[in-house]
Amino acid sequence: MSKELRSLKEYLEDARERKYALGGFCLWTYAYGRTIADVAQKLGLPMLYIIGDAEVKFFGGEKNAVAAARTIAENVDVPVILHADHFREFENIKRAIEAGFKSVMIDASAYEFNENVERTAKVVEYAHKAGVSVEGELGRIAGCEQKLSVDEAEAMQTDPDEAKRFAEQTGVDILALSIGTVHGEYRFPPKINIPRLKKISEKVSIPLVMHGGSGTPEEKVAEAVNYGITKLNLATDLVKTVGKATADVQTKEGFGYSVVNLYAKAYEDLASYAEHKMRLLAHNIL
Ligand SMILES: [Zn+2]
Repeated sequence: MSKELRSLKEYLEDARERKYALGGFCLWTYAYGRTIADVAQKLGLPMLYIIGDAEVKFFGGEKNAVAAARTIAENVDVPVILHADHFREFENIKRAIEAGFKSVMIDASAYEFNENVERTAKVVEYAHKAGVSVEGELGRIAGCEQKLSVDEAEAMQTDPDEAKRFAEQTGVDILALSIGTVHGEYRFPPKINIPRLKKISEKVSIPLVMHGGSGTPEEKVAEAVNYGITKLNLATDLVKTVGKATADVQTKEGFGYSVVNLYAKAYEDLASYAEHKMRLLAHNIL
């Protein structure tokens, strides 16, 4: 039975209404993806994968990434969503949609407001004709390598009034915000700006999403979910979990360079990590 990939919008609108969020888990290989999908199935949640340009290259192109996600979808009873993460160029998004993505992100947040609106609206127009939902981003999410003062960090965050205009003018389905998280590993204590999120949430009714989920304090994540956050991207923690497990196992006696020995513990750890995060994000409905 062939199962089509789903659009993100249909699930995140429900998530916003019922105050829960989905983890966006980075997809690298079929096997890792399948491990996490089994957890989603156990909890009865949609399986959401995110994949960036770099990971798409590992698959040898969008079509192969879609094929992997579809094969996973055929093996579980929950909906599977494959979301193009931080795609920046219209041409790449077009290619992803042609390959079968039903959910894309256009990240034009590096441009000033009007240019961001223009680039995002162009993607929305194209994607909606193909039944594909679109995430846009307003505000800059700092990278872990950036050394910012508190004022600089705050200045990069999403402005509530701009967020309202951005949603109206672009027609995006989902809005990624900058409210204090960073991409990668935190080098300083993270400060999630909940008051700012509350303001944005009052002005913008579409599903809101947060990037930089790895290392963000869990009580803040749980609070953010109560104020409209419906997706949290998780990538760095997955790499850490797998990296640590595969390194540790090689120091064990009897390792013997067996593929099963190399990956079994990593899959197990990945599954417990995913279950923990999914339960946290969906704490209001599980
Ligand atoms: Zn991101």
